[in-house]
Amino acid sequence: MGLKNFTRDDSIFANEAVLRDSYRPERLVERDKELSEYQEALRPVINAAPPKNIFLYGQTGVGKTLATRLVLKQLLNDQCRYDDLSIEVINLNCKSASSSYQVSVDLVNQFRNTCSKIPSTGYAGSQVYQMLWNHVDDLDATHLLVVLDEIDSIGNDDDILYELPRANDNEKISDTLVGVIGISNDFTFRDNLSARVKDSLCDEEIHFPPYNANQLRNILERRAEHAFRDGVLSSDSIPLCSAFSAQESGSARQALKLLYKAGDLARTRNDPEIAEDHVRNARDTIEKGKIQEELKSLPTQSQLTLFSLLQLEAEGRAPCKRSEIYQRYQTVADQTNTDIVSDRTIHNRIGQLRLKGFIQHDERNDGIHGGSYYLYRLDIREEIIRSALKKSESRVSDLLYISS
Ligand code: ADP
Ligand code: MG
Repeated sequence: MGLKNFTRDDSIFANEAVLRDSYRPERLVERDKELSEYQEALRPVINAAPPKNIFLYGQTGVGKTLATRLVLKQLLNDQCRYDDLSIEVINLNCKSASSSYQVSVDLVNQFRNTCSKIPSTGYAGSQVYQMLWNHVDDLDATHLLVVLDEIDSIGNDDDILYELPRANDNEKISDTLVGVIGISNDFTFRDNLSARVKDSLCDEEIHFPPYNANQLRNILERRAEHAFRDGVLSSDSIPLCSAFSAQESGSARQALKLLYKAGDLARTRNDPEIAEDHVRNARDTIEKGKIQEELKSLPTQSQLTLFSLLQLEAEGRAPCKRSEIYQRYQTVADQTNTDIVSDRTIHNRIGQLRLKGFIQHDERNDGIHGGSYYLYRLDIREEIIRSALKKSESRVSDLLYISS
């Protein structure tokens, strides 16, 4: 069959862009408590007082970035009512910055046009800070709010989170009052902040908890009104998307992705309605995609270990002991002409696979004489691992083709 025409008809979506991650809704639903805490924390700014520093945390997909965008938009609008205010906002996503130094370079560059941007290496840290202080002082603003989104990527190197919130107190900046809004997806980041950073950054902490199924349902329903044509959503599709996502992550991002994928499947199959079956299939497809990414990044020995357990499982011999996995691993490594590593190394690999959620273990106890040991089994459905391994373009994928 040759190419088909591209046609514009779409019997499922009215506007699919509404379901994309890049879409910016005008309202944040189900977050009244967090929004009011957020606005309260920013009240000193509207009162022309020094801002509080704010630390927002919660896992990915729970509305932190959207809430920040909406709250600050409101603040910038409302400042017009007061003559003595001129508030500026800098919004920086720190995802690709791995140190305070990089964040400060990025901040300096926010003030500069393309021709005068500074490179990400070559200056002393103190020089970069000085440039930043100069730029802020040159601003004709009463307040500057600096949003550092996904700041957890700087890890332990958190100096900027001390310097910036303290810039006024430490007399680095005099004319503009600076407030920092740090946003983190990672709970351990918050726990590991150095004491001086905790003191300066966390005047106000706002926690965004995961959404429950009802909340996700509400979020999806509002979005679906604009995304889909009338009558294409079966009554159980949104509840199912919400239930799956609440169970797995509580992330609105994940729920929206699932609903979008389900719609996409219905469209591809020319089905008139999005039904339960589309949602289940979409979930599998997304899960496979994620696992595939993870698998690709696993070292060969780990892939072989996983494959060994997969074989044992298929033969009905799992849950099984570590020694059985190792035995099978030796055969499999031999078949793929891979060096055979020690039992100890494979033991470590099993531990890593367990942390990544591929494998689980149960403790068994054989009484006083037998001692205790673990039995291992796959933690992800066989066919998903099989199809992900097949696509991994490694030696293991060759084995799968031979065995199937
Ligand atoms: P985070 O920054 O916590 O990772 P985002 O604010 O980026 O999460 O939200 C993830 C996605 O979910 C975005 O597409 C956003 O529009 C949507 N979203 C999250 N929370 C809500 C909500 N309460 N109401 C409407 N949409 C939401
Ligand atoms: Mg975010």
